[in-house]
Order: sequence, then structure tokens, then C-alpha cells
Amino acid sequence: MNFRNTLYNLRNNFIRAMQGRYIMYGFDSLSRFLFTGIVILMFANFIIRSSIVDVLELILFLYAYFRLFSKNISKRYRENELFVSYKQRLLPGIDKSKRQISQAMHYHIYKCPDCGQKIRIPRGKGKIMVRCPRCRHEFRKFS
Ligand SMILES: [Zn+2]
Repeated sequence: MNFRNTLYNLRNNFIRAMQGRYIMYGFDSLSRFLFTGIVILMFANFIIRSSIVDVLELILFLYAYFRLFSKNISKRYRENELFVSYKQRLLPGIDKSKRQISQAMHYHIYKCPDCGQKIRIPRGKGKIMVRCPRCRHEFRKFS
């Protein structure tokens, strides 16, 4: 048996073993999420070095592994669909808080001392005069 035959046999055995398993249908969103989570936990644990994170990483890994080699394709498929629908429901909230954080980084919110109108002022301009857009009251602020 030469090298090429050995390789051919190994490849055939591998393909036969993979037949009908979920991994043959590619990486779905849930798999990508799980493996991203594992990588993040791995790097985080270089710094934190917590055994709880170790266990969490192991659980994620076992679950991801179990999913990839599962033969219950339809169940794995439904799992992924459920995950995607949850993700889509959560995403607007995540986007919104991201926007709020970036706003807070770039702007000060002041209240007009006269009428209470909220006014958004860019940060880092030094001492400025602010004119309230509602009542035209002017006041000095440090941004
Ligand atoms: Zn005002």
C-alpha cells in the first residue's frame, strides 16, 4: 500500500464517518457563536485564570462538539433557528446601548437653567456660550 492509497483510504473513512452528521451542512450561526465564545473565554482566561471560566469553556466546547457531530439534523437546525430569532430580538437593544455609549463619549448633555430643555454639546471645546434652542437663554459652560 503506497502513500497515495493510504491517504485515499483515510479520506474515505473520514467522509463515511462524517456522513449524515450536522457538520456536513456547514457551520451555522449557533456554531459560530459558540466557537467565538470559546475563543473569547480562552483569551480572557489567560488574564483571569478562573476555574469557573474553565468549566464554562468546557461546557461550551462539549455542546459545540456535540452539535457538529450530531445526527439529528432537524433538531440541530431548529436549535439554530431559535438562536437566530433570539439574537435578532436582542440586537436592537445592543445597538441602542452602543449608540448611547458613543454619544456619552462625544457629547455633554446640559439642561437649560431657564426652561429645563436638554441640550447636547460636543465635548472638548473648552469654555463656550450655549444658547438654548427653545427659550434663547444664553449660559456659559465648559465642555
Ligand atoms: Zn431654555
